[in-house]
Amino acid sequence: MPSYTAPVRDMMFVLHDVLGADRHGIPGNEELDRDTTAAILTEAAKLAETVLAPLNRTGDTQGCRFENATVRTPEGFRAAFDALREGGWTALDCDPAYGGQGLPHLISTAASEIFSAANMAFYMYQGLTHGAYNAIHAHGSAAQKALYLPKMVAGRWSGTMNLTEPQCGTDLGLIRTRAEPQPDGSYRITGQKIWISAGEHDLTENIVHLVLARLPDAPEGVRGISLFIVPKYLPGPDGEPGARNAVSCAGLENKMGIHGNATCVMQYDGAVGEMLGAPHAGLRAMFTMMNEARLSVGLQGYAQGARAYQMALEFARNRLQGRALTGARNPEGPADPILVHADVRRMLMEQKALVEGGRALVFWGAALIDRARRAEDREAEALISLLTPVIKAFLTDKGFETTVLAQQVPGGAGYVRDSGLEQIVRDARITMIYEGTNGIQALDLVGRKLGADGGKAVMAFLALVTGFIAEHQGQDSDFDAGFLTPLAAALEDLGAALRYMQTAGSTAPLDALSGASDLLHLFGHVCLGLMWARMAQAAAVSAEDAAFCAAKIATGRFYMARLLPATRLHLARIETGAAPVMALDEEAF
Ligand SMILES: Cc1cc2nc3c(=O)[nH]c(=O)nc-3n(C[C@H](O)[C@H](O)[C@H](O)COP(=O)(O)OP(=O)(O)OC[C@H]3O[C@@H](n4cnc5c(N)ncnc54)[C@H](O)[C@@H]3O)c2cc1C
Repeated sequence: MPSYTAPVRDMMFVLHDVLGADRHGIPGNEELDRDTTAAILTEAAKLAETVLAPLNRTGDTQGCRFENATVRTPEGFRAAFDALREGGWTALDCDPAYGGQGLPHLISTAASEIFSAANMAFYMYQGLTHGAYNAIHAHGSAAQKALYLPKMVAGRWSGTMNLTEPQCGTDLGLIRTRAEPQPDGSYRITGQKIWISAGEHDLTENIVHLVLARLPDAPEGVRGISLFIVPKYLPGPDGEPGARNAVSCAGLENKMGIHGNATCVMQYDGAVGEMLGAPHAGLRAMFTMMNEARLSVGLQGYAQGARAYQMALEFARNRLQGRALTGARNPEGPADPILVHADVRRMLMEQKALVEGGRALVFWGAALIDRARRAEDREAEALISLLTPVIKAFLTDKGFETTVLAQQVPGGAGYVRDSGLEQIVRDARITMIYEGTNGIQALDLVGRKLGADGGKAVMAFLALVTGFIAEHQGQDSDFDAGFLTPLAAALEDLGAALRYMQTAGSTAPLDALSGASDLLHLFGHVCLGLMWARMAQAAAVSAEDAAFCAAKIATGRFYMARLLPATRLHLARIETGAAPVMALDEEAF
């Protein structure tokens, strides 16, 4: 597997020049200066580049092994997890009351990109733990928090989320797993969960499963689901792992990618659990975990794109084929590097524009989470809730597209295993499926998020983009033409699409649903348009060196000219409504 270099400089630019993490201060972390973030990211980069990235291929080729109802992770994973834990990387943005470092989520997001790009399958073990930590932190009793959180923050115990069952994926109303109340206040959990990431492994002392199940008196459907904490080992009186609970891994899935992450069938045979949150309110509690997980999956999407782009670029610099149309660049050699060719440039520019735009969008989302959590900023909370399905689906669709484009750059070498690119393509593919398929994210956006609280969040988003354009218009004709004019045109397309959706939503819902994925992509493009305009604006006044800033502005121009106009196509598709999509009788397929 080729080496990985963490894009620390680019991250610093987004954190400080674009988002002003040092100037505007993050509530509770006003002194987050450049030196501090640089030191943290440089350390993360060291671990990722020297330990995690070299294990990515091992994870893929060895995979996880199922032996006597236990799972062995690939060689080296355990030592790498020890290094993650000992370096304090499991505790970055966690609550100091439970041993966390209390750093902004923004910083842990940047570190997560580095770890995830280096080795996505490995870092998923920690990602799920962090999600479970959040759910217990938000909904747990004082005793549950005291028992579980310190060990999860320290990386000694890991976490999982158990929703899916053989008959129940998207439609959680179909869950059958049962929870029987016991006289001592605990519950006995019985049922089977499938495709549970990190369900069983050898990296931690204990595994804390968060399991959706039904109480005996539960109402039908999603209103009758409760959430339970079911540890692999029941904590003894000292809080340390005691007797083995009646939960076991019944097998591992054979799958396309992320072979280093164990995807488990989990069997619950009267396992002891305790309720997390209120009866029948499990889905709401689980959504705390899922919302974070959806943002993390959006991050996985562009992070895999970032890793693939690095590989493609290195190949394009070294592979000699053909001559540049404008004169030989490597006259001493038999041919020029393929980087000189316009079509190769096109592919690399697309990758660069999507990856850097995706990074800015995810970091902005993380900054919104910090404002929402630390300053109880309701507008920030509404905005990130609106953006969550967009970040998850748009960035994973585009992230996968980026990995395929990167694979195309080397030609045949991208298809054979040695380049490492085909693994990245396979690993990235799952991001479009799990945590709710991308189609379901689009339904969430159209069916729930747009209309939430009278459409306040979407109006705040539109006002934010309009405000940005108004603030900067007329100051620099190049910036107007290259950035603000295309952004305004894309915003008009979004406005027209939203008006269509509003009308269709009340009169012809199938018209709205048929265009939901297009609306999500249109929305995603406007988000990236805003990010690129903000980055170009920041680059124009940045103290970074001139070449870095010029490249940033040129990449932004490429995005605005070549990718953002996709909004027009998405709008045209939306406006055709349901007729072309639903034209065939079911028998005609
Ligand atoms: C590697 C891997 C890891 C996973 N990890 C976990 C985990 O840790 N925990 C966990 O609980 N689950 C996990 N899952 C399950 C994953 O979250 C589900 O696969 C996903 O949510 C989709 O459910 P499904 O596969 O059952 O598809 P289905 O729900 O059967 O959907 C099939 C298709 O129909 C579409 N569809 C369904 N309903 C609608 C609708 N109402 N309108 C429009 N389209 C619809 C979907 O978009 C999809 O294209 C994992 C899966 C995999 C493959």
